Parts: sequence; structure tokens; C-alpha cells
Amino acid sequence: MSANEEISRRSLPSVDQVLRKLTGADRLLHDLVVNEIREVLAECRGKLDSGRSLPSEPIEQIVEQRLHALLTPSLRPVINATGVILHTNLGRAPLPAFQPISGYSNLEYDLTSGKRGKRDAHTQVLLQKLLGRPGIVVNNNAAAVYLVLNEFAAGGEVIVSRGELIEIGDGFRIPDIMARSGAILREVGTTNRTRLEDYSGAINERTRLILRVHPSNFRMTGFTERPALQELAALAHERAIPLYEDLGSGCVFDVRPYGLDEPAVRDSIVAGVDIVSFSCDKLLGGPQAGIIAGIPDLVQRVRRNPMYRALRVDKLILQSLQTTLLNALAENWECIPALRMIRTTEQELRARAERIAARLEGIPAQIRASHSAIGGGSTPDQQLPTWVIELEGGDAVALEQRLRSASTPVIARIERDRVLLDLRTIRTEDEEALIASVRSAY
Ligand SMILES: *Cc1c(COP(=O)(O)O)cnc(C)c1O
Repeated sequence: MSANEEISRRSLPSVDQVLRKLTGADRLLHDLVVNEIREVLAECRGKLDSGRSLPSEPIEQIVEQRLHALLTPSLRPVINATGVILHTNLGRAPLPAFQPISGYSNLEYDLTSGKRGKRDAHTQVLLQKLLGRPGIVVNNNAAAVYLVLNEFAAGGEVIVSRGELIEIGDGFRIPDIMARSGAILREVGTTNRTRLEDYSGAINERTRLILRVHPSNFRMTGFTERPALQELAALAHERAIPLYEDLGSGCVFDVRPYGLDEPAVRDSIVAGVDIVSFSCDKLLGGPQAGIIAGIPDLVQRVRRNPMYRALRVDKLILQSLQTTLLNALAENWECIPALRMIRTTEQELRARAERIAARLEGIPAQIRASHSAIGGGSTPDQQLPTWVIELEGGDAVALEQRLRSASTPVIARIERDRVLLDLRTIRTEDEEALIASVRSAY
């Protein structure tokens, strides 16, 4: 050890010395503060031992910053300026406004009879009205897929087309879920073509379920074929095997007028699918949850599966979902942020872009037409026309990074070395915060 390092090591303050210099630390738990000081001092010692230099700030300042970061909630609101409506990293569907009930609620209590009730009661009637079938709610659609497969097909076979054995992202792979559910996969057809005869030829005494999966983020074009849902339903009914469709997005609102190609839940039910499941935070625009709906007896069987208890949703989610379903039933699309974003017209987006750009005086910004994406596991070709504010001046990557570090973080997209703010996913109520964050980034 050199003389210099020896001096530095000796000059590191003691825990008590740092503690005395901290302001406001007396309001915090003593152990928490002391542990943080010890960790910072240990890091400094490690730096000296490996011949690196000490940080330039005073030790107490580093400790203060660490304590502040530790005690600040890391989950924060951000402004989504990417134009991807169902952005997986930004919480998928923007959460609709609702006032969470604090304290107690009648979650499992029947106010009329004064007896124990079921949490399902809060969504039952709404799902029946919206879908024409009863439904139950679980943690997400992955849980729904697992539960349906486990209930109907554990120890037996599930027939599925090779063209539908998909991975959605973040490790959700149909074959893996199936293996965990105890169901045995019976793949039929080829990657690009599966015919009705492939399904009927695979049915045997071990067959428990026929599964149809919405390909979501994956699209096959060219020489492809799969039977219509009605044909598959007719086959399933003839052979007395339930037909289950994993719909992925689960549209309750017709998105086709907006140029999007997503099947509606009701269409599947009308086509004769016995049981469907879908996510609540994709095109339904609600909180993270999964819905399993269909023939009453079949849904009841899933409800009685012991794993339901482990996969059910809590009261916060139920309240948020109930709000979303109520708005969907009343066709209050404006109150479901994801749907409001899909429905916003280009003219309106253009007017908002102009209004905001005009307030960015002194900042090199211009507006232009572009395209937004649906996201959330839909194919990249599902796009909507939009208007963006293009920010200029300097390095786009550095600017994007500064926008992300603003006090209200703005998540932008970069296209051809330009930072773009897509109006479609920027909520009207966030416009003031957006302007402030953009100003702070210049
Ligand atoms: C998104 C998706 C899932 C997973 O749903 P989560 O709600 O994220 O669990 C499953 N299947 C399909 C077809 C999907 O699109």
C-alpha cells in the first residue's frame, strides 16, 4: 500500500462523524441511516483498495442522496410520448381514473342479506351483459390460460394448430404454460396450414380440449389456412369436446372502424366457442387482469379449481375493472383512456400538436403527420395515423435521455435521428407537465 492510499484510508471519516454531518437524518430510523453510511464507507474502502479514486462529493452528501432515493417511490407517473398505446413497459393500457376505496369495503359481503358474499358479484352482471356469457376474473390472461388448461385437460390432451404455438413476449409461451398445467400438447397441421381434418384426425379418447390461440404479435401471410371458428366449433360440439379460444386482446368495443383488425369477444361466442379468455389491460383498456368467460357450467368448473384462489384478483383491481366494465357497458368510451386514444381524430391531434408547439417558444420544434402503434402484443402493422412534434437541436439520443430524466419523465421515440412526441398517447391533462419537461430538457 502506498503512503498516499494509507493517508486516504485513514482520512475516511468514521460512521459517527458522517452521522453528525447529516441534516434531517434524525427524523429517519437510526439503523437505516447507519447502514447506509456503512455501505458508502465500505464502497470507498473498496475503491481505495483497488487503486481507484474516491468520489469528489463529500461522503455525507452521497449518503443523503442514497437515503433520498431509497425513500422516494420508484413507481412514478410518466408521459408516454411514444405513440404506442398499449406500451408493455409503461404499464400497458393507461389506467382509467378511479377513486380507490380506502379502509373497508363490501368485497365479500352481501349488504342485503348481511351474510358472506362473493367477490365475483362485483363483475358478474357486467360481464354477462357485455359478453352475453358469465365470466370470472383472475390475475392476467396467462393465469387464465393456465387455469383453463389445468381444469379441463390436466392428464389429457389438448389439440392445437402448429401455427398457433406462439410466444407473446416476456417468456409467455403457449407450450410452456401447457406443460405446467399438466395438459399434453397434441400439435396438428403444419406451421402455415391447418385444416379441419387435422383436428378431427387427432381426436381420441384422451382429448379433453381444442385450443385456438389468437396469434397476437405474429402474422402469417401467403400460403396459409386455418378453419373458420364456426367450423371448429361444429366439430368440437359433434365430438363433445369443449372449444377454448385464447383471444389475447379481448375487444369489447368494435375497433374495425378505426382500421384495426382485432376480433371482438362476442364474435367468438357467437361463432360457438365454449370458453374464451383475454387480458383486461389490452384493448379493454382496464387494469391488469384476465377474464375467463363462456358456458356457465364450464366457467363454474374453472371457478372451483383450487388454483383459482391463488390467481384471483384483489379489491383494488376489482374496483378498477368494475369501473372499466361499467364504462364499457354504458359506452362511455371517453372514460377508458386507451379507447379514447384510439378514437381521437387526426384533426384533433393536429390541433393539439399545433397548440403545444406554439407554446414551446425558443425551442426548435415542428409538427408533422406520422403513425402510432397499438402495441400490447398486436402486430406492428396495426397502426393509426397521428400527429407528432419533432424536436430538433443537437444529439437526439442525449435529448431523449434528458426528457426521460425530467421531473415528470417524458418517454419519446426517435425516428431518423429526431426526437418525436406523439400526441396520440399524450393525455390532455398532461400537456402542461409535458411543456415544462420539454423546456427543462433544453
Ligand atoms: C397477451 C396475450 C397473453 C398474455 O396475457 P397477459 O394478460 O399478459 O397475461 C396470452 N395470450 C395471448 C394470445 C395474448 O395476446
